[in-house]
Amino acid sequence: MKIIEVIKSLESLAPPSLQESYDNAGLLTGDENANCTGILVSLDATEAVVDEAVKKGFNLVVSHHPIVFSGLKRITGKNYVQKTVIKAIKNDIALYAIHTNLDNVVNGVNGKIASLLGLKNISVLSSRENQLKKLYTFVPAKEADRVRQALFDAGGGHIGNYEECSFNAEGFGTFKGGANTDPYVGRPGEFHRENEIKVEIIFPSWLEDRMLKSLLAAHPYEEPAYDIIRLENKFSSIGAGVMGELDPAADETGFLKKLKEVFDLRIIKHTQLRNKPVSKVAVCGGAGSFLISSALTAGADFFITSDIKYHEFFDANDRMVITDIGHYESEQFTINLLQEFLEQKFPTFAVLKTEVNTNPVRYFL
Ligand SMILES: [Zn+2]
Repeated sequence: MKIIEVIKSLESLAPPSLQESYDNAGLLTGDENANCTGILVSLDATEAVVDEAVKKGFNLVVSHHPIVFSGLKRITGKNYVQKTVIKAIKNDIALYAIHTNLDNVVNGVNGKIASLLGLKNISVLSSRENQLKKLYTFVPAKEADRVRQALFDAGGGHIGNYEECSFNAEGFGTFKGGANTDPYVGRPGEFHRENEIKVEIIFPSWLEDRMLKSLLAAHPYEEPAYDIIRLENKFSSIGAGVMGELDPAADETGFLKKLKEVFDLRIIKHTQLRNKPVSKVAVCGGAGSFLISSALTAGADFFITSDIKYHEFFDANDRMVITDIGHYESEQFTINLLQEFLEQKFPTFAVLKTEVNTNPVRYFL
């Protein structure tokens, strides 16, 4: 199996186009066409993790955080980033990062946390705009089923928990081919009227190439007619953070204890408790202060995240409890998520979680 096959599979979980503009997710070192000898999954790709991959004979490290984030001007080994990159290249180790794109899918970093906390009715906290498109195409009636199916197979027609959604209307198309045409129906130079079905199918914008390729391959016409439009509808499964419900509701201290247990925490920083039951919980693994106002608007009782600055704690305004559980701690289960995903996709292949705890933060208690 080649490294590119692993990458393609990871991209089906979290399309690269969903990464934030400041991010640098993707393949950072290595040759995607090399044969993969094993996959090591980690939160950070540090020197110790690369050493571990070398020791295990694995040539692919899949991490959440990209080791190269804002570019490298020199590679002389003067800091941990340069040292890691040098070590990876010298040992032919491919470093692949799946970062904010994995934060922005409902079944990514935050969906995993929500499921471990037993939250129900999980939805994206701050959904992304302009992620949905619609394809209209006009197909001769007897070929409509086949073309529609090809578009479903390319990934179109998913709405929430429904698959193969489409709208179809009967009508007729007209055309007159030039002298050099080879029309599927009718004759060159003659006006033709054909019974057609107008097929409408919604799809996520990153599947546009695939949808078009499938359409052009399946459509019988020499010049298939189609329109693609961008929708302003919200895409409920794409965006930052998630929101879920605890049923039954928990009391605040009981819920804090649960957090300690699930995340194996020694300490939780939090704002004033409100003596109210905890039912709605917002979650953002990693630095989540940018979602405080979204969590408030969504009516969250608790917001679980990390990297909250002093003044940002005030923004809870006694309307919810903000908890800062630590960056590494909040994202630790991303390792399990990736390992489980890859193991399921490649059951006969070696996919291991790193044994290195890459958390740079220590606590003196
Ligand atoms: Zn992070």
